[in-house]
Amino acid sequence: MKFDMPTCGGCRTCEVACSYHHTGEFAPSISSIKILDKEDGAGYYVLFLENNEERERGCDGCVNLDVPLCVEFCKKAEELTEMVKELHEKVSSKGREAEMDIMPSQGLR
Ligand code: SF4
Ligand code: SF4
Repeated sequence: MKFDMPTCGGCRTCEVACSYHHTGEFAPSISSIKILDKEDGAGYYVLFLENNEERERGCDGCVNLDVPLCVEFCKKAEELTEMVKELHEKVSSKGREAEMDIMPSQGLR
């Protein structure tokens, strides 16, 4: 899921923090948050990678923490918090839809 963040300063601390959350190491290449350059306009794009068949380390929302680690180190923490929330609302609603898709076939067994 990609967001336009005009206030992002491009420090990429969130990428470092996210990699630490996943692995205990500073390795931005494996982060599930990516800061992408914009061709025009202020700020950057913020891309959250989601779990799929090819990727095990999608954004998990840092559900084990009071504050997501990427948010803790962002100078625009409130905005980043809203993005993480929106992503996880989408993921949970997809999960509910998937459960509903599965239910009829389970009923036929
Ligand atoms: S930590 Fe915040 S300001 Fe820095 S790159 Fe990430 S989103 Fe942008
Ligand atoms: S909320 Fe997502 S992007 Fe942010 S540190 Fe946690 S796993 Fe990484």
